Amino acid sequence: MEAQKPYLSVVIPVFNEEENLVELHARLATTLDKAGYAWEVIYTDDGSRDRSWDILERLHQQDPDRVRLVRFNRNYGQHMAVFAGFERVRGEVVATLDADLQNPPEELPNLVAKLEEGYDVVGGWRQSRRDSWLRKLPSYVVNRITSRVVGVDLKDYGCMLRAYRRDVVDAMNACQETSSFIPALANTFARDVVEIPVGHAHRQGGTSKYGLMRLLRLNFDLMTGFSVLPIQMVSLLGSLVAFIGLAFGLFLFIRRLVVGPEVEGLFTLFAILFVFVGLQILGVGLIGEYVGRIYREVRQRPRYIVRETRG
Ligand code: UDP
Ligand code: MG
Repeated sequence: MEAQKPYLSVVIPVFNEEENLVELHARLATTLDKAGYAWEVIYTDDGSRDRSWDILERLHQQDPDRVRLVRFNRNYGQHMAVFAGFERVRGEVVATLDADLQNPPEELPNLVAKLEEGYDVVGGWRQSRRDSWLRKLPSYVVNRITSRVVGVDLKDYGCMLRAYRRDVVDAMNACQETSSFIPALANTFARDVVEIPVGHAHRQGGTSKYGLMRLLRLNFDLMTGFSVLPIQMVSLLGSLVAFIGLAFGLFLFIRRLVVGPEVEGLFTLFAILFVFVGLQILGVGLIGEYVGRIYREVRQRPRYIVRETRG
């Protein structure tokens, strides 16, 4: 019998998750069977050093049509692992979640149901997030910044329990850049995005794969990957400094006419210095602007997505 084409494809990145995989898969399969979808799951082993791959292979052997595997030769990071899954999905609806059981698989039918109401992307929003405040505070800041930069206001960009329509995933697949942040990228292509509250649990087994440095890097990717705003701020600062210098120079000039020459001309020197320092910063900003544009070109993201045409 030929395998039925799945309706729902679930993509799960796996990096050293041996303690969680069996339970994760059992809960996932139970939930999806009960919901009655034709489903498949694609696990990407992101260069695990533990028994994760052996466990995944066993799951695949037990259910070869519905459990599909990708294995990286080394660790490329969560988002690349999800992309590897995205490139292989067969379903019309694509969902992602973490392997550590922080995202309950039982939420998937809710996400899919919401998507079926006509949205392109449904994000999970971890209403009572089970992480330390050290992890939550930076997330809050990042969510605000990302919302501004991407132009879609979401409460929780970090939650990977999400569902996408297939065409959004295809658009993301057409992006070839190496550092990307999937929830933000999806929003640049989606028309209707909605968030629904989802449960969040403590990590079941193992430890978090994100140290402070990795988080910082991810956020830097986000900032630089989605706008040239940071460098534009530099240009703005440069213009401001130069302007202050000019204004100060003007002030000194008028003062000289009114009060008479100042002693030793020290402040005049300051004014001149300000103008030149300002111009220099502006110059750096301008170069940055060009580099930013080059960067945007070499990424070769699709420039637009046509929804429909007539005639
Ligand atoms: N992950 C991955 N590659 C990495 C880091 C993480 O595939 O380099 C996976 C990990 O196995 C998990 C998900 O991404 O399924 C989220 O990672 P984690 O739970 O460590 O992140 P946190 O919940 O602490 O943000
Ligand atoms: Mg986690």
